Amino acid sequence: MEKKYLIIGNWKMYKAPSQAVDLASEILKAGCPENAALVVCPPFTHLWGVAAVLKNSAIALGAQNMYPAAEGAFTGEISPAMLRDLGASYVIIGHSERRSIFRESNELIHQKVKAAQDFQLTPILCVGETLVERESGQHREVVEEQISSALEGISDTHLIIAYEPVWAIGTGRTATPELAQEMHAFIRDLLKKRFREEGLGVHILYGGSVKPGNAAELFAQPDITGGLIGGASIVAEDFMAIARAAEVA
Ligand code: PEP
Repeated sequence: MEKKYLIIGNWKMYKAPSQAVDLASEILKAGCPENAALVVCPPFTHLWGVAAVLKNSAIALGAQNMYPAAEGAFTGEISPAMLRDLGASYVIIGHSERRSIFRESNELIHQKVKAAQDFQLTPILCVGETLVERESGQHREVVEEQISSALEGISDTHLIIAYEPVWAIGTGRTATPELAQEMHAFIRDLLKKRFREEGLGVHILYGGSVKPGNAAELFAQPDITGGLIGGASIVAEDFMAIARAAEVA
């Protein structure tokens, strides 16, 4: 069976709302390879404008975070119900920048995964070890704990895992295809143990300095089914070159 890739752009806190509309239009115009599906995750303030551009297209919309409640007195937060109403169908949960800068715990991340699924949003659960954890040989243990705590009691396989070694995010330092594959195979085994056959259908994306020049060799690995792209996703040409790498992988 031909592999169907999923390529997700995390626009982080970049672009003004009007520039985000232009970026979405450029991506839409470029067209998507047949064996790939695209998702873009702009900042909250840009979702409305980008949703209007992507309406009735094959490119899906995601958010970068959410608060795990339908509504309430949570000043400054955004709920999964609000995201659904804006047209989002995905949400990034537990990105390493949120874990480190905003001190998000595995417990909070678990609540977010659960709330996302309760509101029919597909959570993109980010996991990955720091450089210190990798160098001390704890990478498998750390990733296993992140996955088992986030998915505690969850039986719904509408979710995506993004393996993003922290030392590779925004650093220009990419994991070698072999190293990434080893971790993806490890994660695939965890998902099979947890979900049996259904675990085979869960996307496991690689993230960490994916660029047009290294995407094809990463995507060629058997257990890598796409990418979560940060820096390169805010340049339409680069994002689409990465998506096209799926065709040759
Ligand atoms: C990310 O933000 O998820 C990411 C992988 O960033 P970058 O591609 O810039 O390393």
